[in-house]
Amino acid sequence: MDKRKLIIIGSGPAAYTAGIYAARANLSPVVFEGFYSGPSGGQLMTTTEVENYPGFPDGILGPDLMQQFRLQAAKMGTTFLTEDVLSVDFSSSPFLVKGSKTTLQASAVIIATGATAKRLDVLGAGEGEFWQKGVTACAVCDGAAPIFRNQDLYVIGGGDSAIEEAIFLTKFGKKVFLVHRRDELRASKVMIQRVLNHPKVEVLWNTVLVQVLGDTIVRSVILENLQTKEKKTREAGGVFFAIGHTPNTSFLSGQVTLEPNGYIQVQPGSTKTSVEGVFAAGDVQDHIYRQAVTAAGSGCMAALDAERWLSHKEFS
Ligand SMILES: Cc1cc2nc3c(=O)[nH]c(=O)nc-3n(C[C@H](O)[C@H](O)[C@H](O)COP(=O)(O)OP(=O)(O)OC[C@H]3O[C@@H](n4cnc5c(N)ncnc54)[C@H](O)[C@@H]3O)c2cc1C
Repeated sequence: MDKRKLIIIGSGPAAYTAGIYAARANLSPVVFEGFYSGPSGGQLMTTTEVENYPGFPDGILGPDLMQQFRLQAAKMGTTFLTEDVLSVDFSSSPFLVKGSKTTLQASAVIIATGATAKRLDVLGAGEGEFWQKGVTACAVCDGAAPIFRNQDLYVIGGGDSAIEEAIFLTKFGKKVFLVHRRDELRASKVMIQRVLNHPKVEVLWNTVLVQVLGDTIVRSVILENLQTKEKKTREAGGVFFAIGHTPNTSFLSGQVTLEPNGYIQVQPGSTKTSVEGVFAAGDVQDHIYRQAVTAAGSGCMAALDAERWLSHKEFS
């Protein structure tokens, strides 16, 4: 069976940056960039303008940015396999990585499979409807876009991140409505106080989003009060899902230690996982920052950590 020094699992800013650094360190990395597991190129393939990635003062389309990352990694000598990793065996060295078509052995592995933002299956909110035309799952990424300025914005959720997103959006929106299906928020006391006291935020209790309506972009939403069963159409300029993310770790079958929230546990200040020689980068190990630039930064860290680990192993 073919044996490689380094295999990178996933695609997106973390995997491609790891590929750039590892190829330049002569590790001849192979990237399993996925096929059915999510768009090759990662989450940014599902968005339009990226305005906060350094180096692009006029912004850049998400798919174009990822194509540039991939081209740079390929130019440095990274090999790509456009297939999913179905399972891994980290119980002995060399490690085994089983893709849908190819199985390889590896001395070191970087996991950069990202996370998937949860969305609600609501009428009008899907692809080909108003997704990315006013409906999104990332307030920090998209909130400053012109279409949301001075509009009524609706954040769906009731946890800490929903509250953070609602408060963040008050910088841009006319008013922000936090739509929550229960009669109390699942967040820390400090955050709850902050949102309840905010003059530009109103919490809509016991309420769910039923439908998103518009023309070329979102213009209104239909909300239902779960207690009274009353449905109301309200003017809206944007809908932000803030109901959490699912880290893409199911193929690991428990072979590296996960945090209680499902993200891969790494040693503080490094990308080392619970298995020596296995590293994790990007959103799959980061539930806090979740940005392209932080994912790219940790992809660089993982490649440097892997390179040091491999050379230490060679000489020990
Ligand atoms: C709609 C939207 C807009 C965003 N806009 C911005 C923005 O403007 N600025 C910003 O900084 N951030 C933005 N983000 C966040 C940013 O996209 C993420 O933080 C970043 O992409 C995380 O990168 P990552 O490298 O961890 O992997 P991801 O981008 O999450 O990609 C991981 C990929 O790995 C692959 N994969 C998964 N499982 C497997 C497997 N078993 N085998 C092989 N491959 C697999 C899939 O292709 C998956 O898509 C946005 C996110 C979303 C959802």
